[in-house]
Amino acid sequence: MPDDGLIHADLLIVHGDVFTMAGDGSGYIEDGAVVIAGNRIIETGASGPLSLRYRAARVIDATDRAVLPGLVDAHVHGGIALLRGVAQDSDSWLRSLEPFVNAMSLEALLAGSMLTVIEGLRSGTTTFCDNSPGIAHSLPFYEKAGPRVAASPLTSDAVPASSDSTGALPKFSDEMRALGLIETRDLIERWNGAGAGRIGVQLGPRAADFCSEKLLAELRDLSEKHGLKIHMHLAQDKRETAQVLRRYGKRPVELLDSLGLLNERLIAAHLIDCTDKEVERVARSGASMAFCPSSLLICDGILPPADVFMDCGGLVALGTDETSSNNGANLFSEMKIACLALKMKRADAAYMPAWKALRMATAEGARAIGLGNEIGTLEAGKKADIILVDLTLPSLVPVMRRPVRNILPNLVLSARGDEVCLSIVDGKVVYENGRMALFDEKDAMGFIRKTAGEICLGAAREAAETRTAPFVMTENGEY
Ligand SMILES: [Zn+2]
Repeated sequence: MPDDGLIHADLLIVHGDVFTMAGDGSGYIEDGAVVIAGNRIIETGASGPLSLRYRAARVIDATDRAVLPGLVDAHVHGGIALLRGVAQDSDSWLRSLEPFVNAMSLEALLAGSMLTVIEGLRSGTTTFCDNSPGIAHSLPFYEKAGPRVAASPLTSDAVPASSDSTGALPKFSDEMRALGLIETRDLIERWNGAGAGRIGVQLGPRAADFCSEKLLAELRDLSEKHGLKIHMHLAQDKRETAQVLRRYGKRPVELLDSLGLLNERLIAAHLIDCTDKEVERVARSGASMAFCPSSLLICDGILPPADVFMDCGGLVALGTDETSSNNGANLFSEMKIACLALKMKRADAAYMPAWKALRMATAEGARAIGLGNEIGTLEAGKKADIILVDLTLPSLVPVMRRPVRNILPNLVLSARGDEVCLSIVDGKVVYENGRMALFDEKDAMGFIRKTAGEICLGAAREAAETRTAPFVMTENGEY
């Protein structure tokens, strides 16, 4: 190694439009650089001085590239991604999906998470809060493919786990509760901190109507014991409220509060069937909110109350929910929808500016899922989760830096995600110029497509056996 007085680093990114997202805004550095040693950022700043101070094994010239923290998907059910588009334009998305969900094997759930990771990595997502049944079966793929994951099993002890609100309340099964707890404990033991710290575990009760009080209390105790987040749906629809009210005489937010679950360890997804007072109660408890606008707009025609949550000082992260409802796992489109939908709700074009959406998908998303000390900004000491976006592609041209800087609004409102040209997780390149660095995408896509075909056959068999019509929509809207 030459004795040139320079400090050795592994990776030096120079000459980029760097958005560190540090502080309260975008932390922009023109002609900026990021220095990485091992899995951490050791310095960010102007390219000139940093190029003179460091020598790196690899130097990436980021001229005409935006350099951002990797995006955080705070709520995604990767496992059911293979059901993209099978229940859209329906007045009961969940019920329409059931024959397909019932036909899903562990292999199908794995294929769904693989598809989510591939689509996500290609569009800048580097952290996935994947809440899926059978998640342990998908984690070896996460370990190999390179992204960061906060994994939780979708835990329920309700029989039947039905989306119907009109009939008898489902019973709770001691056996299912025991199995759910075993699955969660095994996941913590085997996977929490695995992949050199890239893989973490959260607890994943499905919702207050799908879990007994006993199961919720036991998961609360596990979360306290291990200091882990509880990642769950809360007040996600009228069915949940109706069932919880019938069973306990309390609404879901009140029930969770009475069980000691409303606190900073909770990530609450959706909060759809909440009064503003209830939204405030959740926000003031220190819990964070996973905001999934596309999914809820497509499935229910409803916008979750992220604006009310933020007005009460709550921390909001963005999520795609699942490809089967969102129709994608792309946080660039999610940022745009978040801005547009909230502007429309508030009838105010200045509401929800682009920089705020980018913070939701980076710095604030990371804090909301409990990784704010590790990722979400490009600052010395943080783990190196970084994406580069090609600003020369038609959707991001022209680039102006003065008198007006248009880069950030265009990243949120113009980019489609496929402008991402490089993704780094934990200091390692995982995606570069259309190619996955750590696995064969063509092989993976072959497996995914084959498995998706099997689900259709399984759903058709179930429909024939149960004499229910499969959900098939023709072009003229008939079923
Ligand atoms: Zn969800």
